[in-house]
Amino acid sequence: MISLETARDFVLRDLVPLAVEEVALDVALGCASATDVVAREMVPGFRNSSMDGFALRALDTSTGSGRLRVVDTVLAGRPSSRTLSAGETMRIMTGAALPEGADTVCRIEDVTMVGDDLVIIPRRLDAGECVRWPGDDVHVGQVLLTARAELTAPALAVIAGQGYSTVLVHRRPVVGVLSTGDELSAAPTLSAGQIRDTNRPLLLALLRASGVTPVDLGVAPDDREEIHRHLSEAVMGCDVVVCTGGVSVGDVDHVKGVIGDLAPGRSHSVQVAIKPAKPFAFALVGAMATPIFGLPGNPVSTRVSFELFVRPALRVLGGHRLVERPRVRAVLGCALATPTDEKLHFVHVTTHVGDDGRVHVSEAARHNSHLLSAIVASNALAVVEPGGTYAAGDEVDVIILETASLARA
Ligand code: AMP
Ligand code: MG
Repeated sequence: MISLETARDFVLRDLVPLAVEEVALDVALGCASATDVVAREMVPGFRNSSMDGFALRALDTSTGSGRLRVVDTVLAGRPSSRTLSAGETMRIMTGAALPEGADTVCRIEDVTMVGDDLVIIPRRLDAGECVRWPGDDVHVGQVLLTARAELTAPALAVIAGQGYSTVLVHRRPVVGVLSTGDELSAAPTLSAGQIRDTNRPLLLALLRASGVTPVDLGVAPDDREEIHRHLSEAVMGCDVVVCTGGVSVGDVDHVKGVIGDLAPGRSHSVQVAIKPAKPFAFALVGAMATPIFGLPGNPVSTRVSFELFVRPALRVLGGHRLVERPRVRAVLGCALATPTDEKLHFVHVTTHVGDDGRVHVSEAARHNSHLLSAIVASNALAVVEPGGTYAAGDEVDVIILETASLARA
């Protein structure tokens, strides 16, 4: 058995971000920016009002109040062509350009109207009140985003705010998913000994949630030539290939052998000291050094192996600065024990944010690597040393997999 660190090292050490491409902002969410994004325009670009009210000269209220004549109305997007003179005011709406001559805005709630064209300002105003200044938000040359930062909604908005409609990103990895196993059937009624393929939908969804482009490569039988054909075709069209099954020590576990054949001297077929997901195969195939992952067939193992190896690799390929999921301390609401077996245990658990603001584990999933339904309610993986014995109230490390379900119930 090798350690998790050793396995992760051979997976991650040679990977580099994929090529840079220019994409439209509306397809860039979740990609990593390939460059620093530097402001070329100042925002706001002009003095404007932060309130609906009256634009005026602060000097006209210096006696403690003002009585001003309304000479125009300024709407957002419709500047006034007039210059404001002493004793004058203009109605002004939020976001409208401050007229020449004005230096202050008085909120509409604070004035008293006298007829249609006179307002009383009840107090002395300081110059600049309720005015937004050019460059308040962004100045020219400001670094809005650094290279390898994730393009979140606000990041995309700020780039759009500079008048850009595209952005340079690292290409999203295209990831092929292949299931292997003679027992897998797509027929409406299963024959004796057959099961349905759950790994493929699991992985396709996990990939989609990871912001990459999944490709469904179907199912290969437990036949060495067939698996070879499927995988060698897959590496031609994909940046990464993930297949499940056939990496353990069974009579027809051909995947690990094929992965070795495809990448002489650049493959690993190992037993990792973790539970679940001990068997694991990995190779860099061909001139493009395309990563192939051979994950164990049991669905819970597939999930854990995906989280520990595949997802970090995809984050590196996608150019992301942050490769890992958040890992936090959590308070156990239940007992948790692991066998003394020299393996690091990854236990699916249900966590939530408690009234104390801390992350709590409310339940550990019934564990066995074939018990897929048991992990449906889970949103985290507790990381537990072998021989760990924890009581309710103790703390453990958890890797957060889903955030939506963390909300207080
Ligand atoms: P293997 O790694 O091929 O020995 O498979 C280990 C276990 O996982 C066996 O019980 C398989 O039937 C099961 N298994 C393999 N592939 C899948 C799949 N795609 N969906 C669901 N179960 C699978
Ligand atoms: Mg199999």
